[in-house]
Amino acid sequence: MVIAVDGPAASGKGTIARALADHFGLPHLDTGKLYRAVALNLLRWGGDPDSEFAALRACEDIAGLVDDPDLRSEAVGGIASRISAYPAVRTALLERQQEFAGQPGGAVLDGRDIGTVIAPDATVKLFVTASSRVRAERRLAELTSHGLHAHLPDVLIDIRARDERDSHRSAAPLLRADDALLLDTSTLDRDAAIAEAIRLAEGRIV
Ligand code: C5P
Repeated sequence: MVIAVDGPAASGKGTIARALADHFGLPHLDTGKLYRAVALNLLRWGGDPDSEFAALRACEDIAGLVDDPDLRSEAVGGIASRISAYPAVRTALLERQQEFAGQPGGAVLDGRDIGTVIAPDATVKLFVTASSRVRAERRLAELTSHGLHAHLPDVLIDIRARDERDSHRSAAPLLRADDALLLDTSTLDRDAAIAEAIRLAEGRIV
């Protein structure tokens, strides 16, 4: 059984995907980490994010970076959003995601294009969203909890810019698959969002 969880930044999709993986006893892959690892690789090596060729080179040897604490920084997230628009980068990361999805027993993957490109035949597809303001508030709380200082208007601008880039790029844009179930978490707390995701997923499993 493959569960695809897609949605914009800070929608709660990561939390939901991890909870679904726990609930159904499946392995989980946060595919955003792969794009962030490429971005971090590029940043550390001093490569140019405006060069598709440089970004493609940065796709090599990212295995050691997927648990790096710097992966969560806003700088890395911003570059990840830019380099993820390059078709060459998406192709370089495709096989590893499809292998993960295809493992015996299944898996849960979260990202932007899981239900549309990586696992179009997924058993369950969820599209998790929330208003940009709620997502900015969540992102601010997360940054603050990590001792980082930020201001809500700046975080909101950043979230909206990322939405714009992720939704309007030509390669695998952030898009709700026709058969994806919509889960709006704007007014739900963590536990309520997880409970609703489990209910929706169970409804799709026969
Ligand atoms: O989900 P997260 O914020 O960690 O993802 C970082 C960036 O990677 C996103 O802004 C998005 O542009 C890109 N991404 C993607 N496709 C995925 C997962 C993430 O394009 N499947």
